[in-house]
Amino acid sequence: MKLSAIKENYLYAKSLSAPAKAIATIKANAYGHGAIEVANELADVADAFGVACIEEAIELRDAGITQPILLLEGFFTADELVYISENNLWCAIHNQFQLDALKASELSQPINAWLKMDSGMHRLGFLPEEYADAYQQLSTMKQVNNIVHMSHFSSADDLSSPSTKQQTELFIETIGKLPGEVSIANSSAILSKAVAGRTQWVRPGIVLYGASPIDDQQIAKPLKPAMTFATKIISQRTINKGDGVGYNALWMADKTTKIGTVSIGYADGYPRHAPNGTPVFINGKKSQVLGRVSMDMLMVDLSMFEQQDCIGFDVELWGDNISVCEVAKLSETISYSLFCGLTRRVSKSYTK
Ligand SMILES: *Cc1c(COP(=O)(O)O)cnc(C)c1O
Repeated sequence: MKLSAIKENYLYAKSLSAPAKAIATIKANAYGHGAIEVANELADVADAFGVACIEEAIELRDAGITQPILLLEGFFTADELVYISENNLWCAIHNQFQLDALKASELSQPINAWLKMDSGMHRLGFLPEEYADAYQQLSTMKQVNNIVHMSHFSSADDLSSPSTKQQTELFIETIGKLPGEVSIANSSAILSKAVAGRTQWVRPGIVLYGASPIDDQQIAKPLKPAMTFATKIISQRTINKGDGVGYNALWMADKTTKIGTVSIGYADGYPRHAPNGTPVFINGKKSQVLGRVSMDMLMVDLSMFEQQDCIGFDVELWGDNISVCEVAKLSETISYSLFCGLTRRVSKSYTK
């Protein structure tokens, strides 16, 4: 894991959104990159961090992270409020249950509330017609000291979709003259500058880790991948024309072929749906997956190394040379899911 890449990507996302402040989204263990390590790396630049639930925030506070932390879904049960107020957690408020619980709570410090509007995603938030009333309720509570307006895009990764513009207009229009800062952009909207200059806060996530949720061609500066998912060749053999490889012989040699076995499989988080031909990078050369990915291993083409002993060769599954987005696309998933899917068995190491 290259931590400096995450810092560069954060600063780049922030520069695209200037003068907005940026919540570094490090939920789900920083998309599999290690929340504490990433938070420490960004501690001197990040305006705040974003996580999904209080357990993730507690982990960061216990590790000594002092920046504000936004709970992107707020609290789930009222008993979380005491910790939230005592530990400077910012809190999304998206339904009447939360408003009632907050109003009934006894807190030592008032909290910073991020009032969420459902502007079209239909996942969390108050509908536009309910929004002013929710704002009114919050603004009169002694438990609240600041309100930020928040919403989330459903289709910002699809540049041809009209919904990003529609959601933005609806959100801004509904806020109207209500006081408070505004936040709506995720990574896709930051990269496509969908709301540039119109909000005070952005919430970059996947972009921090160097994977673009939109077509790379649209980005001025290449993102830096932070993660290299890599291992070694543990076995090699030469098979004959007509021989099948792996479970169900999903790949068959059409000529005598040297193949290798790699010590990573779907139990490590490599996608089982990666088809024949999915690129891998071996000892400085591009190669490909052959046959079905198994639990602990997968097979690759070594025909470019016919004369060499390949045991111990480095294999990159994704990183600087193999785009995680390409592997994701071939496997009919997304980079987010591949990053978050790495399992406990995969050991992480960090460089600056
Ligand atoms: C996860 C999340 C983000 C970050 O999304 P990316 O697509 O990774 O940039 C932003 N806002 C909310 C509410 C989120 O849940």
